[in-house]
Amino acid sequence: MAIESRNPASGEVLRVYPEMDAAAVDAILAAANAAFRRWREVSVRERARRMAKAADVLDSRRERYARLMVEEMGKPIRQARAEVEKCAWCCRYYAEQGPAFLAPHQVPTDAARSFVAYEPLGVVLAVMPWNFPFWQVFRFAAPNLVAGNAGVLKHASNVPGCALAIEEVFAAAGFPDGLFRAVLIGSGRVAPVLEDDRVRAATLTGSTPAGRAIGAKAGELVKKTVLELGGSDPYLVLADADLDRAVAACVASRLINGGQSCIAAKRFIVDRLVVRPFEERMVARMAATRMGDPMAEDTELGPLAREDLRDDVHRQVLRSVERGARLLLGGEVPKGGGAFYPPTVLADVRPGMPAADEEVFGPVAAILEAADEEDAIRIANDSPFGLGAAVFTRDVAKGEAIAHTRLEAGCCFVNDFVRSDPRLPFGGIKESGYGRELGELGIREFVNVKTVYVAAKPGPQAPATE
Ligand code: NAP
Repeated sequence: MAIESRNPASGEVLRVYPEMDAAAVDAILAAANAAFRRWREVSVRERARRMAKAADVLDSRRERYARLMVEEMGKPIRQARAEVEKCAWCCRYYAEQGPAFLAPHQVPTDAARSFVAYEPLGVVLAVMPWNFPFWQVFRFAAPNLVAGNAGVLKHASNVPGCALAIEEVFAAAGFPDGLFRAVLIGSGRVAPVLEDDRVRAATLTGSTPAGRAIGAKAGELVKKTVLELGGSDPYLVLADADLDRAVAACVASRLINGGQSCIAAKRFIVDRLVVRPFEERMVARMAATRMGDPMAEDTELGPLAREDLRDDVHRQVLRSVERGARLLLGGEVPKGGGAFYPPTVLADVRPGMPAADEEVFGPVAAILEAADEEDAIRIANDSPFGLGAAVFTRDVAKGEAIAHTRLEAGCCFVNDFVRSDPRLPFGGIKESGYGRELGELGIREFVNVKTVYVAAKPGPQAPATE
């Protein structure tokens, strides 16, 4: 089987790579493991210094990498540049903060010295999605390489050029040969890599079925995993919300990256007292979106990443309409080539419709009416997912209380749209996965949290307890 990149705006095949055979994968795992053994001996400060160089490499190649992403998965060029910049920020953040996050900390006990240290685990397999082909990888790699681990990347099959470019960033920044490598293989060949003894842990960002498969396999093998999976983020618009501000944030979050974001706003749960004006303003804003060539500077919405994914989104829209949703905008596949899908708004969405029950990975807003605030919270939590959520209200204290204690999600925002930030932990609950990336907690997911106890002085043995 070959791994192919295809431009979703035109359908043109860009490059074809032969899939790596078992011997090539074995050589990559051997090199990663050998590099890890040397890297773990390198001081955290030195590892951090190289990560700062990776940020410089990204800055100097921003345009090249941004264009590569646009070509392979169709995001608008301005968003692609911002993605490269965010990766550089992330590298710098862990270059600066990594040493403090990883410093051993003393715990007073009856020992002469007892402390907790954070030691690397080894080679971590990273299975990644195409939607943010650089960011998803860097938010794993920047903290983890500073922590002393090695990374083997199995990227989504439609972005092989991005996988190889990321490998090139770490090589150019002076990381040891083999420490971060990409394997070009299909998803059917991930299990044997995970089974390999040289692979100590795995992280997967992708759909819930893929997470379930990796989580089950890793469970059998007793290997640590972090799973960052799908979402159907609810945005609660309460009766007292500043509607213009809410609509602006809702539309921005729904359309960024063509709506193909795990933390895109997907369900708009609007108090019945404001649902009609919300619908009108949302339709006006969505209709004004410029869809077109993702390389054009003024394009806001490019094609979706692949035609089959576009067709899935269209089927979800049609089935929702069949089951009673009101189509207010869009909902038709445009004529002409490419995987384009227009901004689409569905109202009167209810449970039992794909737009309410499933993750819709495209520019489709689903509006659900709530009787009041309590009903809005109930609808928001009535989901198998729990990744992000947002609440819009002029009563900031009330919004904060709802975000803090009522919403079942890993990242809850008040009067703003959900986004990841290298400084804050990111991840979900329920079928959106487990574990965290980013922040002080994220850098400690793939470390051995080691207790070191140095006895005070030789003396009578304490009674044996566990
Ligand atoms: P996907 O189909 O699950 O693929 C993600 C990655 O997993 C790809 O590398 C894919 O390889 C691989 N894969 C798929 N099935 C697998 C299996 N059974 N065993 C091992 N590997 C497998 O997801 P996608 O379509 O690329 O990305 C969209 C999904 O990712 C959405 O659900 C989105 O919400 C989620 N996502 C979550 C986050 C988060 O942080 N929570 C962030 C971004 C995206 P192939 O490409 O070779 O099939």
